[in-house]
Amino acid sequence: MVTHDEDAVVQAPPPAVTPQEAAAIARELFAVDGEARSLGSNQDLNFVLRGAGEPTLLKIANPDTTAAELEAQSRAARIVGDTTSIRVPLARELTDGGTVRPVEVAGQTMHARLLDFLEGRTLSGSGYLPPRSVRAMGRLAADFDIALADFADPGAERASQWDLRRTPSVMAELLPSIDDPALRARLETALSAAWRAVEGVADDLPLQVIHGDLTDDNVVAGDARTRIPDGVIDLGDLNRSWRVGELAITLSSLLHHDGVDLVAALEAARAYHDRARLTAAEADAVWPLVVARAVVLVASAHHVLRTDPGNDYAAENLVHEQAILEAATAVPLAVAGRLVRTALGFPARVLALPSGHGSLVRDAAAATTLDLSAASPLLDEGRWLAPDIEATLTAAALRDGGIVLTRFGEARLTRSRPHSLDAPANVATGVDVTVDAPTDLVAPWDGDLAATADGWELRAPGLQLRVTGSDPVRGDGPIRRGATIASLRGTARVAVSAADVDPPAFVTAALRDAWRAAIADPTPLLIGEERPSPDEDAAELLARRAATLAGVQEHYFDAPPVIARGWREHLVDTDGRVYLDTLNNVTSIGHAHPRLVEAIAAQWRLINTNSRFHYPAIVEFAERLAALLPDGLDRVFLVNSGSEAVDLALRLAQAHTGRPDIVALREAYHGWTYLADAVSTSVADNPHALATRPPWVHTVAAPNTYRGAHSDDPSAYARDAVTEVDRLAAEGTPPGAFIAESIAGNSGGIVFPDGYLSAVYAAVRSHGGVAVADEVQVGYGRLGEWFWGFEQQGVVPDIVAVAKAMGNGHPLGAVITSREIAESYRTSGYFFSSAGGSPVSSVAGMTVLDVIRDEHLQENARDVGAYLKGRIEQLAQRHPLIGTVHGFGLYLGPELVRDPATREPAGEEAAAISERLRLLGVIAQPTGDHGNVLKIKPPLCITRESADALVDALDRVLTTGW
Ligand code: PMP
Repeated sequence: MVTHDEDAVVQAPPPAVTPQEAAAIARELFAVDGEARSLGSNQDLNFVLRGAGEPTLLKIANPDTTAAELEAQSRAARIVGDTTSIRVPLARELTDGGTVRPVEVAGQTMHARLLDFLEGRTLSGSGYLPPRSVRAMGRLAADFDIALADFADPGAERASQWDLRRTPSVMAELLPSIDDPALRARLETALSAAWRAVEGVADDLPLQVIHGDLTDDNVVAGDARTRIPDGVIDLGDLNRSWRVGELAITLSSLLHHDGVDLVAALEAARAYHDRARLTAAEADAVWPLVVARAVVLVASAHHVLRTDPGNDYAAENLVHEQAILEAATAVPLAVAGRLVRTALGFPARVLALPSGHGSLVRDAAAATTLDLSAASPLLDEGRWLAPDIEATLTAAALRDGGIVLTRFGEARLTRSRPHSLDAPANVATGVDVTVDAPTDLVAPWDGDLAATADGWELRAPGLQLRVTGSDPVRGDGPIRRGATIASLRGTARVAVSAADVDPPAFVTAALRDAWRAAIADPTPLLIGEERPSPDEDAAELLARRAATLAGVQEHYFDAPPVIARGWREHLVDTDGRVYLDTLNNVTSIGHAHPRLVEAIAAQWRLINTNSRFHYPAIVEFAERLAALLPDGLDRVFLVNSGSEAVDLALRLAQAHTGRPDIVALREAYHGWTYLADAVSTSVADNPHALATRPPWVHTVAAPNTYRGAHSDDPSAYARDAVTEVDRLAAEGTPPGAFIAESIAGNSGGIVFPDGYLSAVYAAVRSHGGVAVADEVQVGYGRLGEWFWGFEQQGVVPDIVAVAKAMGNGHPLGAVITSREIAESYRTSGYFFSSAGGSPVSSVAGMTVLDVIRDEHLQENARDVGAYLKGRIEQLAQRHPLIGTVHGFGLYLGPELVRDPATREPAGEEAAAISERLRLLGVIAQPTGDHGNVLKIKPPLCITRESADALVDALDRVLTTGW
């Protein structure tokens, strides 16, 4: 069917050339020697030549391509290369000033050029594309088009199958190749709607020479790690066409990648628009052209496979192309159109109810609106997880009589579930109405009534009212405003949508605003007014945060979700997305624990005051804390944070020994107050940490058995530290204290070599100093096997600082030491902290201990922790990026390395992986001086299912990319 006359739009495959023949051609035409390797392509023949100099590319064009077209491509590449930072393959100029040479292959004359070979990886395949890569695609397309805005060349005026302007005629030629009638109909329907939209603006679409195939396959990233494309290859589809077609082709090529949906792809459109402003007409044409491109891609793959059934390349591509079509048509064009317009800053229409509409309910009774949002008090204590919660709450609300409504556009937490890799479809596109007595539903406007399978529709020009769960009492046909349609009993769903759209009952929050193009709020039909659900704008809130909070008070994630609630080991954002929280070790017993909430509230109702008053809670709590520690550590100070606890511990040590000098580990963090900061040495927390320590702080190496100076002889770390302590003593400045976390929590849960702490403690004590254990992160049951980290090392410190988990987020910290050391504080006055050990804090502290005991959370840390560690270690066997897994119990640290042999830290990877995990519903963060250890320290109540969910999400990221 395909002919070779100049009107043909579908090219035939080129004749075959072997690598040996290619090498001979290169030698003869371009005087270049080298070994040739064929690169796959469906139209041209491409060979990379590697010889003495830089590798080059021999490109033998399809016989259909003329020399003039190729010269145009060479000239265009030269302009882009000269005027932008884009890397492009420049063609070797020959003595006559041209770049093309004819070559005879299998009796056909073809044209060859020698081009620069661009090093780098394409973005081919269906792996994950991060937002940075997506945005870079948009920038590349924009810069390319800006460079060629004034380029004119007869060789760039051609009839190409890939010119989107020709879509209808190309499809007319391709459609008969598709045997499956359902697919054919689908392509025809999608294209006809898209083409109607294109035709509406076609006359206003600017034309220019474009690359015409600036896709994931035709860009290269010089830096394989960041995968930010910086080079554009294969100008073989260079053509004068609609400028916006360039962007549409780029966008469509992103849509088959893991993690790139319509919303994510539009980041590329935004990036394009930021550099090369699009017109409103172009904005309106973008998505219809994406659909057109998808339709042509699918049809053309079927065409190729029909003529060449063994073409594996085309068969493989068809999978991607089908995915592009699915994504391109996932929402109605009107919805995509509003999304595009909003993303690019153009005003966009929303669907409105008919002006002057009447009411759907004849005698509207008092209406109660149910709050099913993430922050709804109705959903406290995990009630959102009950399968029948909406019905239960509706029934309860109905007891007050009248009608009960749900809210239009509300992201319902009741529709969200933990452990989902995708954002839930939980935003209601309609309203559920429940009545306690039969209630007449009447036509709010003149229209056409039609019964449906489960209710009825009332049509009006341009839109329809759809009611499900209520049978009409009259037949189909025209009906006047005010006429009775049905008698409602129980619950019905009411929705208003554009005439040609059948919206799903729930959509994702990312599409909530876009859907307003095709749906309207029906609430005014029921109660005469809207009852909108509050909708937090995360970006706006972030801007306010940036404008008010000190900048150094940083936040997690590039675009953090707004957190509305927590429950056990889960966090919930204002869109009702549920995240698995692997980060909040402070919330040891789980978020919003009802027992803690109630205990704190009860104490607040009685009294909260300071510790100079006499009340039982502080005494009981101090007794319980002391009982948790080895004999002799029985004097308790209560403060409000880890920093305060560490500060106080060090002050006690200095007061007790009369010596200011302190030995601390490198790569450590102990807090922000003066003394706690003085011993904080981590360059991840403070890049200047090591250079700016006060002279009385002396640091020793972090005893790391996986990396570091002595990873092959771990016992040397203790020897070095002891030598340093002895040296200080010999120089007349014996340390008053040695401070360390008992397991290096800040580095990611790195366990010290056996005997490390006992050797260093002994050395410090031998010179009259004391040992301070910072248990702020690793203590309090988290390690599973041991309640305190120092037990793992078989030592007993002189002073213990603890906080975080003690209060489950309530500000609470403690220092526990011997009576003798505690007494030495008197040399610097008396101790008082206004809120430290207050009745509320003490009750909080005791309740946390009760829950840890009653819910066996330390045992859970041991069991689920061991299970989780085992599963991550299994992952490591498939993913060499995981070099090792540090830690015990529920303080785990998978350490990421670029190469298992060199153990080069994979810090950028860990940051990007954390971002991607967030998109998959898991909150995790990197830590350590190289930022390459994921700190896994979830609430101690985490279940095995949640541990599995974490591992599955991590597996997905490591498999599909970040
Ligand atoms: N010590 C360690 C080991 C810590 O990790 C931290 C906080 N990350 C602190 C002390 C300080 O605790 P806070 O933030 O409660 O002041």
